[in-house]
Amino acid sequence: MADYLISGGTGYVPEDGLTAQQLFAIGDGLTYNDFLILPGFIDFTSDEVDLTSALTRKITLKTPLISSPMDTVTESSMAIAMALMGGIGIIHHNCTAEFQANEKFEQGFITDPVVMSPHHTVGDVFEAKVRHGFSGIPVTETGKMGSKLVGIVTSRDIDFLSEKDHDRPLEEAMTKREDLVVAPAGVTLKEANDILQRSKKGKLPIVNDSDELVAIIARTDLKKNRDYPLASKDSRKQLLCGAAIGTREDDKYRLDLLMQAGVDVVVLDSSQGNSVYQINMINYIKQKYPELQVVGGNVVTAAQAKNLIDAGVDALRVGMGCGSICITQEVMACGRPQGTSVYKVAEYARRFGVPVIADGGIQTVGHVVKALALGASTVMMGSLLAATTEAPGEYFFSDGVRLKKYRGMGSLDAMEKNNSSQKRYFSEGDKVKVAQGVSGSVQDKGSIHKFVPYLIAGIQHGCQDIGAKSLSILRSMMYSGELKFEKRTMSAQVEGGVHGLHSYEKRLY
Ligand code: IMP
Repeated sequence: MADYLISGGTGYVPEDGLTAQQLFAIGDGLTYNDFLILPGFIDFTSDEVDLTSALTRKITLKTPLISSPMDTVTESSMAIAMALMGGIGIIHHNCTAEFQANEKFEQGFITDPVVMSPHHTVGDVFEAKVRHGFSGIPVTETGKMGSKLVGIVTSRDIDFLSEKDHDRPLEEAMTKREDLVVAPAGVTLKEANDILQRSKKGKLPIVNDSDELVAIIARTDLKKNRDYPLASKDSRKQLLCGAAIGTREDDKYRLDLLMQAGVDVVVLDSSQGNSVYQINMINYIKQKYPELQVVGGNVVTAAQAKNLIDAGVDALRVGMGCGSICITQEVMACGRPQGTSVYKVAEYARRFGVPVIADGGIQTVGHVVKALALGASTVMMGSLLAATTEAPGEYFFSDGVRLKKYRGMGSLDAMEKNNSSQKRYFSEGDKVKVAQGVSGSVQDKGSIHKFVPYLIAGIQHGCQDIGAKSLSILRSMMYSGELKFEKRTMSAQVEGGVHGLHSYEKRLY
């Protein structure tokens, strides 16, 4: 290999490591653990590293992180939290179209709050408070959204009540409808904000012409505008939100509902995206909603990517068989190690200005850095974000460990719930179901509001070690050949992990 001169330095430094092109020219499929990145020169602090990156041709994120459209990962709580942290959540479609469209919220407008009826008791409120950590609960005639508002119970109503009051019905304890400040449906967030500020209340119920509850707004949510400088927002200042859809006729109805709800990006959810169904769907969407950003996939080769790029996708989702819950490679014999998939597809797609989402197989923050260093613009995660407070589902204990369920969308468990996930795996008409995923559990990780800042800081530190002050610099260093990689033998991988200790505790942040 050629030596090169460091100008003004002490002389020649032998060339070291492999360029990405050389690394992948070897021909073996590589996963993130199969290689390392050689460190570069640091002349900036890690918090100066700019993580701004393209999600699609037209949408840019300040944090390159996406939560996966899986029914144990992304519903509205996750989507809100991810967008507040500068990333985005893609709401899954293993549910009715109406449920999915409702999950797309307008920032601040909560459309699925805890609601009670006048016959619920003070004890129920205390219980809800323990479970959900708040006590501003609207009370409607039936105890459901869409029913007549009759009052609200706030902490001021129950603070001085004791055990003996627990059986009292809420109609005796709540603040009654005639004493409430409400806003009419259709109110803008700005108007609602002004009403809340004037009323000095914690919650503002939104009611329609029949005085039925359609949403509430919480003062704490409005404060978030100030508290989340990275938040991903669209031109109307609403938090960005994505949703997954399939490629069948009824997905066109789902798409219409999502558009009415204001979705910013749709992800065509398929484990093998290079299909006539997906191409037809891209053409349909681009004709009907030309402004909507469409993510195609999943693909792992340039040949697959070509068809979707030709059809007009705005980003590509890359990965087949690398997910933590995935048995696709075992069952279908198809797939590709994720490092190679990301490099090969990104290297091709960049010529057409199409960003790549590295989807699946992310186990550590180092894997995120590696995916970005191989040309991905953003990274999609399932297991890493599962079992956070914002992931759907309740916590449960097993052997004293606090867990939440996490399952593949191609697991029998998920396919039995709704046939949207069967469509992802082309198996809705099959007499014999062939699972492509498993169902399991993941240990409690706490809130996204603590975990994502850890991921962000970790990526910034990785980029600092590499000597890249931004993700665009990181990618251009890779494509110019300045960024150097090295393959890792099995023993090198062992050396790179904790070893030789009798016991240890691994606390990450
Ligand atoms: P993880 O981050 O490694 O847990 O992988 C999550 C990714 O796995 C998702 O974003 C999907 O692309 C993929 N995936 C989800 N469910 C299944 C499945 O049942 N089989 C195969 N892949 C799946």
